[in-house]
Amino acid sequence: MVITFDFDDTLLWTEVERDEDGEYVDHGPIGENPHVFPRLLDALDSGAEVHIVTSRRSETKGEVMDWLDVWRKHNPQLRRLAGVHFTEGQLKHDTLARLGSRQHFDDDPEELAHLPDGCLGVRAPLHPSWTQKLGESAVRSWVRSLLSA
Ligand SMILES: [Mg+2]
Repeated sequence: MVITFDFDDTLLWTEVERDEDGEYVDHGPIGENPHVFPRLLDALDSGAEVHIVTSRRSETKGEVMDWLDVWRKHNPQLRRLAGVHFTEGQLKHDTLARLGSRQHFDDDPEELAHLPDGCLGVRAPLHPSWTQKLGESAVRSWVRSLLSA
């Protein structure tokens, strides 16, 4: 059984920094996604063939490997990871098909809408800062638009 995981936001959560109006300022990595990272460990423990497939460009490989090194210290089963693949900005479909992935975890609905036949998609939840504060800011601008009407 081949199981694949996206990297950014699926395994490595990012958090959004916003200004006092709730507008986006920046975002950055904060550590493992607590919903999906345990599924990666379970997959490795189960003896599945596990790959990371990211649409990142391979120039950023060092950064990905640094995070895997950090995680490996507390999760030795990460040594069983079968591979890390970079699709250089392309959809992951062809790589997932070539690997024979039967289950793919991703935060990107576009990727999940383009999985190979026989591959089950699992949506990875984003850090709440991506949506909650966006919601608050949307409510604030809705109220502003009502008041100015
Ligand atoms: Mg992602």
